[in-house]
Amino acid sequence: MLAMNYRGPYRVRASHKAEPEIEHPNDAIVRVTRACICGSDLHLYHGLVPDTRVGTTFGHEFTGIVEEVGPGVQHLKKGDHVLVPFNIFCGSCFFCQKELYSNCHNVNPEATAVGGIYGYSHTTGGYDGGQAEFVRVPMADVGPTVIPANMDLDDAVLLTDVFPTGYQAAEMGDIEEGDTVVVFGAGPVGLFAAKSAWLMGAGRVIVIDHLEYRLDFARRFAHCETVNFLEVNDMAVHIKRMTDWLGADVCIDAVGAEAAGNALQRLTGYYTFMQAGAATALFWAINSVRKGGTVSIVGVYGPTFNYVPIGNALNKGLTLRMNQASVKRHLPRLIEHVQAGRVKPSEIITHRIPLEEVGEAYHLFSSKLDDCIKPVLVPPR
Ligand code: NAD
Ligand code: ZN
Repeated sequence: MLAMNYRGPYRVRASHKAEPEIEHPNDAIVRVTRACICGSDLHLYHGLVPDTRVGTTFGHEFTGIVEEVGPGVQHLKKGDHVLVPFNIFCGSCFFCQKELYSNCHNVNPEATAVGGIYGYSHTTGGYDGGQAEFVRVPMADVGPTVIPANMDLDDAVLLTDVFPTGYQAAEMGDIEEGDTVVVFGAGPVGLFAAKSAWLMGAGRVIVIDHLEYRLDFARRFAHCETVNFLEVNDMAVHIKRMTDWLGADVCIDAVGAEAAGNALQRLTGYYTFMQAGAATALFWAINSVRKGGTVSIVGVYGPTFNYVPIGNALNKGLTLRMNQASVKRHLPRLIEHVQAGRVKPSEIITHRIPLEEVGEAYHLFSSKLDDCIKPVLVPPR
């Protein structure tokens, strides 16, 4: 089959590899119909995630048709068209019972923090991902969700990660009626966080980025105010000035380490600056929120980028909340929002690219070329 193949930092291509097979009774094999590239894939692509092995296939945001099920699978059958949450989880451990599926203890017990994730290095279990014609789906009775008959596939594929992640970012902000919510990052996750903030009763939503095309889109998609951080000297002062000197009630970090570092690297050309500036969005979030406010973090931080102004967080008595999203928990509500027409997730898709051209797709999304917001890979057939 054709599959995305990681060859090393900044080098990915489509090549042929053996089709996956049922390895456990509760596995399914799914023929992929859509697979997105995520900001999280860029951490892998840039070589920032430990134990990312050459020859592996990325892709944790995909839909597909069930091709085969193992003898232990009861709730899925051949021919079902499913959306598959990016988390691989057992559904029954201590954490899954609390709906903390992203922290499942059974799938990847050696890991200190996260459970299993498709196509996300051996630190999250070493599972191959869905940027391929076929993918093995473990615990197939638990994660995959049959796509409602009337739902557009392009909407469905965004329910596997970025919409639920943005939604959880807003939820972890404990937004109250009328709150001012500042979202750092106008990528797919930030856009859905902004959209979700309104669904939760925000009175004002402000999105920060430096890519004008994304800020333009954010104003249209999420009806928010925007700030280009390149036009601001001191972010905390700027946000205070916009909020009667109180600061925002809730700040959401939808950037993470590498995206921020990347932006600074492009601006300064220095890797050292990239490291020093890596925590910019989180710094800004902590410094721009009001006292007693909440900072919600869904941007992903890796080993070299864990710079946190923890002293300021303590002095301000903040609540810090963060997690990998537990996609499945949000699906009933989000499917309802999509079906009621309150959110049209596929509006953020800017590029549909054949799987054969996966190398170009990564380059386009990583370098933010051609006004790219969200690329979707379409396998042959
Ligand atoms: P993306 O790369 O498309 O978007 C990131 C955006 O942040 C870009 O538009 C970039 O210009 C902007 N940015 C860079 N530095 C900034 C700064 N200092 N302030 C404000 N904006 C800045 O990525 P994405 O797909 O939207 O993902 C965003 C983050 O969310 C990534 O770190 C990704 O790994 C993470 N993520 C987390 C989860 C989860 O479950 N927690 C799930 C999906 C993605
Ligand atoms: Zn993702």
